[in-house]
Amino acid sequence: MKFLALGDTDGIGASCHFLDLNGTGLVLDAGTDPQRDGPNSLPRFDWVQDRADSYVDHAIVTHAHHDHMGSLPVLVRRFPHAMAHMTDATKKLLDFLLPASARLQKKRHEKGETSHDPLFTEDELEALHHLYLTHDLGRDFDLTGPKGAAPVTGQFYSAGHILGSAGVELHFEEWGRERRLFYTSDTNMQAQTIIPGGEYPETTDTLILETTQGAEPEAEATSRPEERERFRKTLARVLTQGGTALIPVFVMGRAQEMLVLLGQLKREGAIPRSVPIYTAGSMRAIAEVYDETRDTTPRVDSSEEVFAVNQERVPYEAEAKREILDGPGIMVVSSGMMLEPTLSNVLARRIVENEKDAVLLVGHPAEGTPARRLKDAAAEGPGAPVMLADGHGPQPVNCTVERFRFSGHSDRRDLLSIVDRLDPETVLLVHGDPEARAWMAEHIEEAHPETDVHRPDWGSVVEV
Ligand SMILES: [Zn+2]
Ligand SMILES: [Zn+2]
Repeated sequence: MKFLALGDTDGIGASCHFLDLNGTGLVLDAGTDPQRDGPNSLPRFDWVQDRADSYVDHAIVTHAHHDHMGSLPVLVRRFPHAMAHMTDATKKLLDFLLPASARLQKKRHEKGETSHDPLFTEDELEALHHLYLTHDLGRDFDLTGPKGAAPVTGQFYSAGHILGSAGVELHFEEWGRERRLFYTSDTNMQAQTIIPGGEYPETTDTLILETTQGAEPEAEATSRPEERERFRKTLARVLTQGGTALIPVFVMGRAQEMLVLLGQLKREGAIPRSVPIYTAGSMRAIAEVYDETRDTTPRVDSSEEVFAVNQERVPYEAEAKREILDGPGIMVVSSGMMLEPTLSNVLARRIVENEKDAVLLVGHPAEGTPARRLKDAAAEGPGAPVMLADGHGPQPVNCTVERFRFSGHSDRRDLLSIVDRLDPETVLLVHGDPEARAWMAEHIEEAHPETDVHRPDWGSVVEV
């Protein structure tokens, strides 16, 4: 088996891993790099032919985050015979998110915010639609390529990460032996508010493991109930003093989880029912997909609906924004990293100097992002300066800034327990910072000296 990372493996780049299984060419995920723009955000599809001397027959899309699916339309255009495989919920989300991405790229190009042409158009997406096949969890599906020397089958396991997310198990034959490979993709063993913990096979030969939380010692020291309690207390305090709580979120996944949690806190009387919750944009359409699939996808409680939680729209006009920022209120808006020029960045600049307000970070603030700069400035003490956007500030951080671990990813001890359980001969570590992958490699090698641990570099072929 040949493995070739087509996206940057040092960090959360474009997830895209090529496999050659005895003549069958597979791609696991086809993401775009959120920190890059235009063609630079794409995986190096050209390397499939150039470096691996192969072709892509099938693509597997594990979930609807852009770093895992944003380049799928480019992939299927580039390899016209390729079919794409995903769960039904992921397809429903792609049907909404990919056209939204096409419109956004067009708008940015027209406004001169980027010099790059859009990677794909809405019309093109419609023409590609029939290439996307869906499969139930736990059912075999065929992935054998036309030049495959032996059959390859796939099977999805719920990954516990976001709606529709799946890990994939591959069965294939090599040198006359039955082989198994499991790709965790982004995975979470523990239940969240909406999505229950992930499921995994009993055993495997080769494990491709995500490592997002590999350098996060605090994650394993906290539990979800503790974090929920801390979140409840901080939020109640901010609202009692009449403040605004800004919760920057990813529109896909984290937003819906937070809304249902806020609904629960209102029902429990932990925060006043009358406090308005403001949301914006595509988050609402995604909530609809969450709600319409609540009986057909894994749920903690299928009676919970995102839209049962009362939401108001963040107004467009500056004056109206000023009024609602008087508080008390809760803003659940994107982007999670507070990137420019998203709403969370705009609103954060408005509240960061106010002592009674708060920014509650509920994801992992990546290095180099405004969310990370805010967290680091707040850690220096009250009034420390922060630059949230070019040409604005520095501003003193007077508001409360707290980070909560509501991650959609397993902590590193849980990731190690996946290795313990599956007991693979070979582990390929992907989707994490260099320190994260190093920590994981060290601990796997210590516990399983007989296991081959690889940290594949972007672009180099690994023979397994
Ligand atoms: Zn993800
Ligand atoms: Zn990811």
